[in-house]
Amino acid sequence: MTRFISLSIIFYITFIGIVTAQNNYDDVEIKSIKVEDGIYMLMGAGGNIGLSSGEDGVFMIDDQYSPLTLKIVAAIKKISDNPIKFVLNTHWHWDHTGGNENLGKTNVVIVAHDNVYERLTHEQFIKIFNRKTTPSPKKALPVISFNDQVTFHLNGLHIQAHHINNAHTDGDSIIIFKDKNVIHTGDIFFNGMYPFIDTGAGGSIYGMIAGANTILALADDKTKIIPGHGPLANKKDLENFRDMLIHVVDNVTPLVKKGLSLEEAVKQDPLKDLNEKWAVGFLKPDVFLATVYQTIQDHQK
Ligand SMILES: [Zn+2]
Repeated sequence: MTRFISLSIIFYITFIGIVTAQNNYDDVEIKSIKVEDGIYMLMGAGGNIGLSSGEDGVFMIDDQYSPLTLKIVAAIKKISDNPIKFVLNTHWHWDHTGGNENLGKTNVVIVAHDNVYERLTHEQFIKIFNRKTTPSPKKALPVISFNDQVTFHLNGLHIQAHHINNAHTDGDSIIIFKDKNVIHTGDIFFNGMYPFIDTGAGGSIYGMIAGANTILALADDKTKIIPGHGPLANKKDLENFRDMLIHVVDNVTPLVKKGLSLEEAVKQDPLKDLNEKWAVGFLKPDVFLATVYQTIQDHQK
């Protein structure tokens, strides 16, 4: 009887978990924000989507989670009647590539850096979330991959995707709408919050800082910046984010130099002057610290 009750409870919790997960997506609304004429940012759940819409079709940057594809496509329909031609993945993470399979099945051409193709093709494991992802089905994979940069000539624009080395992952791209003075940063920029850095997939806080500097060099005071997460941003917001990352390195490096373990470093609370402002996203300060500590240790060797 006890066994039956505990099994029932487990079933009930699992069931509630599934229902909640389902409802989480059911409740998601896709919000469209006009960035410039013909350029939009869509916010729902997961990474921010960028769009160019015009006479040649829709060019899309990232596609959030698979259960949201219908809502995303409906939101795009309100902007343009033209078909979605391309989706460019800024990196391999599931909150940016989850809609790939649905879109791939409708013959949208998926494009990404070579390392995104590699990671989507093989099983991945993110230690900090204890999360394993299985290889993606064929229709979810990029059909075009590039090693450095690629330019899309459509809708009267020259849309350039640039690979940035080892920042959030080893396959990051930023997308530059030079004609419109708009940049999509992928997850090199989390606007107003601590970023997740996928160090198991080649990410590094030093690469994040270098990546932010590369983007800043391309921007001026009028540039509209679509971050991977968080609201639409400007150059100042990205400078603040870059400065926060530098501040983290400055606060943590002395603890590494003293030879402290991560557990000992956590007790020293090296992010205390930053947490109030930056620990507002999904990543808790200790988890963020854990993602950067090893990198800073390795850097000091
Ligand atoms: Zn990511």
